[in-house]
Amino acid sequence: MDTDFPARAIIDLSALEKNLQQLGKCDPNVQAMAIVKANAYGHGGAQIALAALKFGIKWFGVAQLAEAMQLRKALKDFPQTRIFTWIFSPDADLEAAIKAELDIAVSNPETLLRVASAARAAGKKARIHLAVDTGMGREGALPEKLAPLLSAAALASEEGTVAVSGIWSHLARGDEAGAGEEATARQLATFQQACELAFQRGFTQLVHHLSASSGLLWHPQAHFDLARYGIAMYGLTPNPERATTASLQLTPIMRLEADLISVKKLPAGHPVSYGGTWVAPQDTYIGIVPLGYADGIDRHASGKIWVAANGQKYPQVGRICMDQFMVDLGSGEEDKPPLAAGATVRVWGDGSQGEPTADDWAKAAETINYTIVTGLNPRVPRVYI
Ligand SMILES: *Cc1c(COP(=O)(O)O)cnc(C)c1O
Repeated sequence: MDTDFPARAIIDLSALEKNLQQLGKCDPNVQAMAIVKANAYGHGGAQIALAALKFGIKWFGVAQLAEAMQLRKALKDFPQTRIFTWIFSPDADLEAAIKAELDIAVSNPETLLRVASAARAAGKKARIHLAVDTGMGREGALPEKLAPLLSAAALASEEGTVAVSGIWSHLARGDEAGAGEEATARQLATFQQACELAFQRGFTQLVHHLSASSGLLWHPQAHFDLARYGIAMYGLTPNPERATTASLQLTPIMRLEADLISVKKLPAGHPVSYGGTWVAPQDTYIGIVPLGYADGIDRHASGKIWVAANGQKYPQVGRICMDQFMVDLGSGEEDKPPLAAGATVRVWGDGSQGEPTADDWAKAAETINYTIVTGLNPRVPRVYI
């Protein structure tokens, strides 16, 4: 443990294993791709990937090509591992990507031609997944632009520069009930048509993938051959309004904790933090937590969140600062503070000690649990257990 930094994110790899098993039960016939983009949603890219590999994961997905190159290095002892990537610029070094045997997403004929010529230069076949925009309005060929993409792919396949190994798309509203269900049904139908067209063009052996966590959990028809495991793998629900993390039998794998750097008694009427938005209503002990918005602690949650120690909750008071925030420990007994300097408090976790979850933080900050864990700055040490 890094004793120079009085806070840490504890990452429980056994909870990761449990979540993977739990998600595997959704459909035993669907392959799993662990999405480890953005430093594995803040949990530590290489460590999560290596652990997931140990738990049987064979596919990984990262958004940026640079992340994929990094991951390939981290997994150099496991060259069979498939690494899927879907964001790169028009002048990206595709030759290096092909040499690194990445699975590259391709949305249009221009990109396909660039990949093919990079493959020629690399002297190696490029492995690609055709992306279809079925309603996300992001990457992928629109259905009416799929035919020319398939033609270009067929040509490059015959020429031997490209191996088309997959076709995929992404749901925009897979987590929503109600109107979202209809939108998902439309995306599903569009994807099925795209897969059919690809089949007719002779691509009969493709890996078809449409679902992220929400599709895996809530849309059995969207499972196809492979599901991209994201937020649920980290033990969080894709949408707490649809199903809570607990009801999905997932366990948040990250716990953020910090050691109080100081505890002092403030007299009644004394303000706390910028703007003096909170004023001590009585003489009370204030603890300083050495984490702030520079660490990724969302300032929007100011005054609406709490920390916990030994099953006791302590409200966060005043505005969250850049590197620290304050908690109201209460008036204590006689001259003894409820917690002493150095005491460890839980900032978020699985809630088992009364601490808020990432879902609680998301609610307080009016955001989603994804941004809570993903936003945790690299300067906070990660400890793996
Ligand atoms: C981020 C992402 C995922 C994972 O999404 P979750 O909701 O976290 O499961 C899957 N596929 C694509 C294309 C993504 O961008």
